[in-house]
Amino acid sequence: MTRPPFDPVSERDIRIVSAQLGRPARDVVGIPARCACGAPTVVATAPRLGDGTPFPTFYYLTHPVATASMSFLEAAQLMVECTELLEGDPQVAAAYARAHRDYLADRESFGVVPEIAGISAGGMPTRVKCLHALAAHALSAGPGANPIGDIALERSSWSPNVCQCPDYGVDDDAGAEASG
Ligand SMILES: [Zn+2]
Repeated sequence: MTRPPFDPVSERDIRIVSAQLGRPARDVVGIPARCACGAPTVVATAPRLGDGTPFPTFYYLTHPVATASMSFLEAAQLMVECTELLEGDPQVAAAYARAHRDYLADRESFGVVPEIAGISAGGMPTRVKCLHALAAHALSAGPGANPIGDIALERSSWSPNVCQCPDYGVDDDAGAEASG
């Protein structure tokens, strides 16, 4: 797990993320979290894309098994449970508000974009709207940084410590040739 500044992103990382997303990865500024095998699990994206579009979701979950697990937990009403926890526990609410501020600070280290000022991701600071975004933040910033993201990862059938990666198809001859 890592917060900014990030290590340089490799060509292979970009190829894996593109395979995970099913489209070319754009405006990648770092790989803040990885699977046990080294494949990216979270991608960090510039707050303003190359075409000018504001992009608030700085930490984006790309790992296909992780995203499926978060979708399952959303369908299982974990967001309802987490919303009740936020409303009933001032300590969790305070930690969640802090997570929101940390998220914005990390993103703004790559530039301030007025259109998305004060807007982080996942429903922060007071709502729970997307477990994918919250888990991505928790995976990147580490345990204790995002209380709802931590809960989502605890409940998840996927873990960054056990590789469940599919074959991303990035190490075949064609891929090696393309990268020179
Ligand atoms: Zn893996």
